[in-house]
Amino acid sequence: MSKVIFLAPNGEIAQDALSPGSHAGVPPLDRRGRPLRDLRISVTDRCNFRCAYCMPREVFDGNYTFLPHASLLTFEEITRVAQAAIQLGVRKIRLTGGEPLMRKNLERLVGMLAMLRTPDGEAIDLTLTTNGTLLEKKAAALRDAGLTRVTVSLDALDEHLFERMSDSRISVKTVLRGIDEAARVGLSPVKVNMVVRKGVNDDQIVPMARHFRHTGHVLRFIEFMDVGTTNGWNMAEVLSGAEILRLLRAHFPLEAVKADYRGEVAARWRYVDGGGEIGLITSVSQPFCGDCTRARLSPEGSIFLCLFADRGHDLRALVRSGADTGALAARIANIWSGRDDHYSEIRGRESSAHRKIEMSYIGG
Ligand code: SAM
Ligand code: SF4
Ligand code: SF4
Repeated sequence: MSKVIFLAPNGEIAQDALSPGSHAGVPPLDRRGRPLRDLRISVTDRCNFRCAYCMPREVFDGNYTFLPHASLLTFEEITRVAQAAIQLGVRKIRLTGGEPLMRKNLERLVGMLAMLRTPDGEAIDLTLTTNGTLLEKKAAALRDAGLTRVTVSLDALDEHLFERMSDSRISVKTVLRGIDEAARVGLSPVKVNMVVRKGVNDDQIVPMARHFRHTGHVLRFIEFMDVGTTNGWNMAEVLSGAEILRLLRAHFPLEAVKADYRGEVAARWRYVDGGGEIGLITSVSQPFCGDCTRARLSPEGSIFLCLFADRGHDLRALVRSGADTGALAARIANIWSGRDDHYSEIRGRESSAHRKIEMSYIGG
């Protein structure tokens, strides 16, 4: 039996021995004292885009072998893992990919996850990150199934640049229609994620801010990250959050907004004139590992403890052996309690050099 640190309901740290069922009501902490609060579920490794910073076409071409369908967790299996994770403290689930809306009948999975309840009988926050290309068609069905909110990635308003960055023939207008439809059906506020690459799309920062001001959507600028090993990441292409903010403040008066909760990844700012909010995700220049409460479930059912991990912890075999929720929760608690990941804090040091998992596999 392995030793696990538990957070007692009164917030104090307690020690307990792990056995199936013993975790009930006492969510585990990892080795750095972080609780498990968020689960990101990657439902597919496929995508209809080939963003160079994520799935460069030279690697993800016609010869690339994507996961066969039989190796993916079924919706029922995903739901069982999610249920176990909720018992351990997860309160927010994000579906991602690859492009999650390419997984057939995703709304059925959304419906199943939306039925799950915390030990206190509360529903969880259920959200989705998408490139938006299929959103106009699917937003209403996703909302009806129980999705709470949506995040849409959009790196440029300029059509040529967008085509170049997504390496696709899909128009910006398609994504904008998806965003509008999501807001119209109530999946709001819609968050819009823009990955900024210096010298590539930094001239879109101000036009994007101008476009999304006063719409109710929250634009978030993400520093270009060294995820995976294929995207040719280079520090010289990172425009820091501070530089992005300086650029924005030259055009729009902004003031800081206090974080809503521990572990919020974006630093929030609002337009002084009431034009809404923006966010800055500074995982390179200002790492936030100390508050990182996220685990990731791969399409094949492995738990990854960090976006930059080199390997996962298989759960699929246990799921397919017919294990009940208690046994699954005990296994996840055991994995979580051994977590020491803090990659962004040690980026660039020798100890951080390893082969990392691809973003399109594990999701953002
Ligand atoms: N396909 C969906 C999408 O693009 O929204 C979901 C998966 S995608 C991997 C999740 C998020 O990761 C997106 O917002 C994307 O822009 C971001 N992302 C991918 N590669 C990145 C990188 N190298 N640096 C920063 N963000 C990245
Ligand atoms: Fe696809 Fe999203 Fe990766 Fe772009 S960022 S290639 S849309 S998975
Ligand atoms: Fe979390 Fe890993 Fe990112 Fe740090 S580097 S914030 S531990 S996912």
